[in-house]
Amino acid sequence: MPRDSRYDVLFEPVKIGPITTKNRFYQVPHCNGMGHRFPQGMAAMRGMKAAGGWGVVCTEECEIHPTSDLSPGALMRLWDDSDIPTHARMTQAVHENGGLAGIQLVHNGANVGNYFSRMPPMAPSDMATIYKHPLQARGMDKQDIRDLRRWHRDAALRAKRAGYDLVYVYAGHNMTLLMHYLLSRYNKRTDEYGGSLENRVRLIREILEDTKDAVGDTCAVAFRFAVDELMGADGMRWAVEGKEIVEMLADVPDLWDVNIAGWENDSLPSRFGPEASQEEYVKFVKQTTNKPVVGVGRFTSPDTMVSQIKRGVLDLIGAARPSIADPFLPNKIAEGREDEIRECIGCNMCVMGDFTATPFRCTQNPTMGEEFRKGWHPEIIPPRTSTSSVLVVGGGPAGLEASLALSNRGYDVTLSEASDELGGRVILESRMPGLGEWKRVGDHRTYMLGQKANVESFINSRLSADEVLEFGADHVVLATGATWRSDGLGRSIIHPLTETSRTKLVSADHILGGGLVLGKVVIFDDEHYYMGSVIAERLRDQGHEVTLVTPSTMVSEWSNYTMEQHRIQKGLLEKGVEVICTHTLTKIGEGEVSLSCVYTGTTRTISADTVIPVTTRIPLSDLQSGLNIRRDEWLDFGVESVTSIADCLAPGTIAMAVYAGHQYARELECEVSEIPFKRENYQP
Ligand code: ADP
Ligand code: SF4
Repeated sequence: MPRDSRYDVLFEPVKIGPITTKNRFYQVPHCNGMGHRFPQGMAAMRGMKAAGGWGVVCTEECEIHPTSDLSPGALMRLWDDSDIPTHARMTQAVHENGGLAGIQLVHNGANVGNYFSRMPPMAPSDMATIYKHPLQARGMDKQDIRDLRRWHRDAALRAKRAGYDLVYVYAGHNMTLLMHYLLSRYNKRTDEYGGSLENRVRLIREILEDTKDAVGDTCAVAFRFAVDELMGADGMRWAVEGKEIVEMLADVPDLWDVNIAGWENDSLPSRFGPEASQEEYVKFVKQTTNKPVVGVGRFTSPDTMVSQIKRGVLDLIGAARPSIADPFLPNKIAEGREDEIRECIGCNMCVMGDFTATPFRCTQNPTMGEEFRKGWHPEIIPPRTSTSSVLVVGGGPAGLEASLALSNRGYDVTLSEASDELGGRVILESRMPGLGEWKRVGDHRTYMLGQKANVESFINSRLSADEVLEFGADHVVLATGATWRSDGLGRSIIHPLTETSRTKLVSADHILGGGLVLGKVVIFDDEHYYMGSVIAERLRDQGHEVTLVTPSTMVSEWSNYTMEQHRIQKGLLEKGVEVICTHTLTKIGEGEVSLSCVYTGTTRTISADTVIPVTTRIPLSDLQSGLNIRRDEWLDFGVESVTSIADCLAPGTIAMAVYAGHQYARELECEVSEIPFKRENYQP
C-alpha cells in the first residue's frame, strides 16, 4: 500500500549538527536490562529498531566512569577502551540496518551505590545518595570537576571511535550528576559552580563545549534535559528555571531532547495519563532555540505525531515504549500499514527489565528481548514445516497471539472462544479504572486475524473434550485461562476462608464481570500487582466504604517494577480507601474480619460485609484433564498433540500469556533444545 500523504512530513530528513536523519522517527535512549551484561542481545535489539525504520537509535544510559556504577543494573559502560568493541557491535547493527546510532553518556552522581566499583559516589556537595543506599555522596572539589570533564571527553572520543553518530550530554530524570548540579536542593556550592542559575549551569555548558570540541566535527551533540519535575518550587519548573536554562544554552547543543522528570513521570503509565501528555511542559522549547527538538509522549498514532510536527511542538518524534511494542512502527506508516501498528498499552512491563537487571519484555511484543538469544524477529516467522491444522481453544491474549503467529507461519487455524467477544481477560480488565488502553492487546490481534484467510474464529463456542476430539485438528492448543479464587488460598492464607451469614466472600471475577456487592468491603491483596487496587478503586467509585489489607508494607508492591506503585497508593488514599499494610486476613466473622500483624501476630478485627480476596487464580485445566483421560483415542480422531499454555497452565501476567502464545506458535513442529535460548557466556 502506498503511504498516506498526510504522513509525508514524518519522513522528512532532519539536520542535527553534522549529521542528517533519514526521517523524524527517533528512538530515544531507554533501559532494557541487557546493557553491558548482555551486549549481543542489546545490539541485536537496537539493530532491529533500525531495521524497522527508526532514523536514530540510541543506547540506554552509558556510564562514563566507575564512580558512576549503577550495579546491579545492567546499563552500558564506556569506562575505558576495553568497552569499545561492545559498542561497535551496537553501532554496526544500527548502521547495517540504515539508522544513525546515538549514545547517552552519563555520570550518575549521587544516584548510584557503586556496589561493583566500591568507590564513593560523587555529588556537587555532600549529600545522601538518592536511592536509600547506606552511604553518602562526597562533595566534589575543583580537581574532581576537572576529572569529570576529562572522563566525559574521553568517553565521547571512545564513542566516536565505536562508530556513534550522536553523543549525549545527559541531565535528566533526577538521576544524573549534571542535573544534581542544576538543582539548588542538591547543589550547595559556594564557588562558581553553585549559587546562581548561571553558576549551576556552568558545568553543563563546559561539558557540552568539551564534547563538541572533542567529537563535534562528525558527531551531533545532544543535550537531554528534564524541563520539569512536577514537584513545585522545590524542583525544576519549566516556566521558571527550565525556560531560563534553555534560553542560556539555546544554540549550544545540536539537539535538545526534552522531557519531564523523574522517570515515573516521563514513562507515565497509561493508567495515569494519555499519549502526548508531556506537551504542555516541553512545547516552549522549540520557541526558544533554533536547534531541533525531540520529545516523547508514548506516541503511537501517526496523526498525533504529525500534529506535534505541524504545530511546532517537536521536530523529531521520540519514542522508547512505542518502539519496544512495535520496532517496525515507522515502516508500517511508510508502507501504508499504520492500522497494523502494535500500539504500546502503557503498562510499563518493559521497565521491569531495568529494575530486575534481566532482558526486558513487552506485553504487546513477545519478541522483544529475544532478537539475539532466540533469533525472533517481530515481523518475520519461519514458515510451517507441514500442512497440519491447529485448533486454538480460548481467545484471550495467549490464544489470540498463538492464532496470529500460527497463521503467519501458514498453518490453518481454528480459534474457538466461549464468550461473545475475543480478548479474554483484557476485555474485562480493560474496563477497570485506568486500564482502558490495555484492550489494545486483544484489539490488535483480533484486527490482524480478521485479515487472515487461513484463520476461522468462532465466538459463543465453548468446547468440551468430546468436541475438541471430534473436531480432529492435528494439534490442539488450550488457552482457556484461569479464575480468581474466592477462598483466599495463597501465600499467606493456608486454610480456605468461609463466608458467614453476615459477611460474604466474593471473587475478583465477580467484580471484573461488573457484579455488585453489599456494604463495607474488605479487599485482601496478597497478589501485589494491580488487581487489588483497581477493584478497590472501582468499588470506592461506586460509593462503598473500602479497606485494602495487604501483608506487604505497601499497596501493589510489585508495581514498583512498573513505576505505578506510588501513584496507585496515592490515588487510593485520596479516594478515601483505607489501607492496612503488614496484616493478613485470618478469619471471617459475623459482620467483621480478623487481621493479624505479620510481624507480631497481634490480632484485631474490622467490620466487613463483603470480603474480596485477591490472592491466587485457579488454572482452568478441565479440558486438558478431560482430554488426558482419553489419551489413547487422540490418534483415532487425528489429534497428535494437546498443549496447555499461559494462564490455564500457570496463571501470570498478560505479557506472559502473549509470550506463551507466541512461543507455542514458533516452536510447533520444531526441535527445541532443553535450554531454548542462547546465553552470553563470558570467556575467561
Ligand atoms: P490467557 O491469558 O491465558 O490468554 P484468558 O483468561 O485471557 O487467558 O482467556 C481465556 C479465554 O478462553 C477466555 O476468553 C474464555 O472465555 C475462553 N475459554 C475458556 N474455556 C473455553 C472453552 N472450553 N472453549 C472455548 N473457549 C474457552
Ligand atoms: Fe508499552 Fe507495555 Fe510494551 Fe512497555 S511493555 S512497550 S509499556 S506495551
